[in-house]
Amino acid sequence: MKNLLVNLVDKNKKYTEEGFLASYIPALLKANKDDLGIYVVDIKNNEEYWAGECDVKFTIQSISKVVGLIIALSDNGRDAVFKKVNVEPTGMGFNSIVNLEIRDEKPYNPMINAGAIVTTSLIYGETEERKLERILNFIRRATNNEDINVNQEIYESEKETGDRNRSLAYFMKSNGILEGNVEEVLDLYFKQCSIEVTAKDLARFGAVIANDGITPWGNEVLMSREVCRIVKTIMVTCGMYDASGEFAVQVGIPAKSGVGGGILATVPRRYGIGIYGPALDQKGNSIGGIHVLKNLSEELELSIF
Ligand code: GLN
Repeated sequence: MKNLLVNLVDKNKKYTEEGFLASYIPALLKANKDDLGIYVVDIKNNEEYWAGECDVKFTIQSISKVVGLIIALSDNGRDAVFKKVNVEPTGMGFNSIVNLEIRDEKPYNPMINAGAIVTTSLIYGETEERKLERILNFIRRATNNEDINVNQEIYESEKETGDRNRSLAYFMKSNGILEGNVEEVLDLYFKQCSIEVTAKDLARFGAVIANDGITPWGNEVLMSREVCRIVKTIMVTCGMYDASGEFAVQVGIPAKSGVGGGILATVPRRYGIGIYGPALDQKGNSIGGIHVLKNLSEELELSIF
């Protein structure tokens, strides 16, 4: 496995030249464009394998949408959550506003910005600090890494330039989908997107999802089977934004990407996979990462379909 991963990173590194770093959040431009790493946790024997840049820290960005969805579902139950957000793919970019007005008042799904702002607003907690603490604690347990924290510089950069997210949120407030204080919800959303992880952290998180919501290393239950099933399903249909269909055909495993360059992927009952490669394609997915996952899926026959 180790050799396979090394070969796949070597072979696909060239694609990073074709990608670009996310620039709409200025602090993300500091990443090293040609970094590429993959980390795999084999849940059957608790072995871990990696190649490339797996200890580089980057912000979780949209992968935090998975965390927000898990906590919102666990806190409120599925009916209450899906009253506010749909579960249909959009065919639109992750920060598109158009569907909110012309198609349906509810955001299309929890894996695009509008939907994630809603799930974040549904997280329980007496104060905003408490809610952030719950998000951080969840990720710390899911990655077996107590050092997980918010990157302050990226959070500030995000907050300063987050006007598109502000528009989405105020629009949803105007039609009653979003309740409460919009600025507070957005602040929590910006913070959750700015949590720093590594490819290794994502692989461990993927291993928990692959193991039906239970940590393979400590048998701790982090979510119910039902929540885990729903989350995996939505990752397949919506996790790679408007490239989810193509990814399902080419790779065929539940995955979620972020504009920081990470991909969280999970092969039910087998592997948790974490990718880091900050050079992105047009849709905002790690360009090298997608190629590595495609090859890995072919080599090991990972597609769930
Ligand atoms: N924080 C980013 C945003 O809200 C997350 C987007 C992403 O990773 N696709 O725009």
